[in-house]
Amino acid sequence: MKGFLGSQDIASKPLLAHLGCMPHSHLPPHPVLSLHDSQSRATVPFTPIDPAHVKVYYCGPTVYDLAHIGNLRAMLTADVLVRLLRHVYPRVTFVRNITDVDDKITARARANGEDIGSLTQRTTEEFHQDLASMNVLPPDIEPRATHNIGEMQAMIARLIENGHAYEAEGHVLFSVGSFPSYGALSGRNPEELEAGARVEVAPYKKAPGDFVLWKPSDADQPGWDSPWGRGRPGWHIECSAMSHRYLGDSFDIHGGGSDLLFPHHENERAQSLCCFPHGKFANYWVHNAMLLVEGEKMSKSLGNFLTIRDVLAQAPAEALRLLLLGAHYRSTLNYTQAGLQEARKTLDRFYRALAAGPVPETDVPEGVMQALADDLNTPKAIAELHALAAQALAGDRQAAGALKAGAGMLGLLQGDPEQWFKGDASDEDTAIEALINERLVARKARDFAKADALRDQLQAQGIVLEDTKDGTSWRRA
Ligand SMILES: [Zn+2]
Repeated sequence: MKGFLGSQDIASKPLLAHLGCMPHSHLPPHPVLSLHDSQSRATVPFTPIDPAHVKVYYCGPTVYDLAHIGNLRAMLTADVLVRLLRHVYPRVTFVRNITDVDDKITARARANGEDIGSLTQRTTEEFHQDLASMNVLPPDIEPRATHNIGEMQAMIARLIENGHAYEAEGHVLFSVGSFPSYGALSGRNPEELEAGARVEVAPYKKAPGDFVLWKPSDADQPGWDSPWGRGRPGWHIECSAMSHRYLGDSFDIHGGGSDLLFPHHENERAQSLCCFPHGKFANYWVHNAMLLVEGEKMSKSLGNFLTIRDVLAQAPAEALRLLLLGAHYRSTLNYTQAGLQEARKTLDRFYRALAAGPVPETDVPEGVMQALADDLNTPKAIAELHALAAQALAGDRQAAGALKAGAGMLGLLQGDPEQWFKGDASDEDTAIEALINERLVARKARDFAKADALRDQLQAQGIVLEDTKDGTSWRRA
């Protein structure tokens, strides 16, 4: 068995105490974490390839506009998953890319009369700020597509060489018919796809489902020299190349919103498995469901399109975070004003429970761990927090400690209760957290001079940072 409990050095670590078993007692025979895997369409035990180092890839944003709350739901699902994995396993590498070359970016830059580089840079910074204010931890590696064009070209060349791709009129296309397992992830079969194809099929395609790996660029479009002429990559090959560069032929979990399942993830899988046939690409696929706003699909035309910033202008970030985690990630979530107010009231109660007396340091309570280990059951974990808050309000300070530790797994209740009740400090806190996040990004990029300068800047504002293995916390000196 390859589950992490089979490995001696890891099994002896105190993490097992969090999972409700004593380090020296009889070990349970199965992995303790289960996840719903989209490919097998079942909730299955999670067994990492290497329990000493778990590897996760998530598709990141295409940077041309502010992130909306639907984007946020995917980022929050990843955040809870990675927090849980970090709690259980000694090392987790979480890669989340930035798509900074895309026709939507080119079009937006043109419409704004803005340089593409300035648009992508500005939007990436806004994305980082928004996620920092939502207390979403930064990824370990955040590759940019434009920094990985060489890897994409190498993969495309290899796919042509082994008969899975062909060149036609300056394009390189993936030949869907060359990969018998195409459709296995999304459950669609190629015939069905062809029959359902309503879009006009480009004449240079051998089959309607064939998709672009490389396409030619005009002089006013971003482009790179290649064996197939000056051009730019298709979106799907970007993620195949970046996941391979940083995580290898086989890694544990690939995630994203359910809107990415087809065609994006199906195509990523086809490219990667055909290019690296000895690897497995992703062992588990995690997809979060979509989000409604007041019962309707979010769209610009309905006028109910909400960016993260729109919501944060009217409510604390933590209330939005609690609201979004209040539904299981595989259920459709209905965002409502009433729900946001409810989340705020819940946090009032939770912070009252913390403020009512001392909060001792405790382990993450077993009930919260079990809920999250059961396919990230966040609503059940939150129900546990409600029970702990009730006990804490009745005077049980151990329960207050457990409330704080359990909420920490969800990235909640880590602030100062006094701050929460003051409320209006949130803008200032957002600015502080954005600087802390910028420092983390600098450190990951090994730019220690910049990281130190940011620490000094924060210190000058009276902010003390504390680095722990779970991230950076801060307090006022
Ligand atoms: Zn992707």
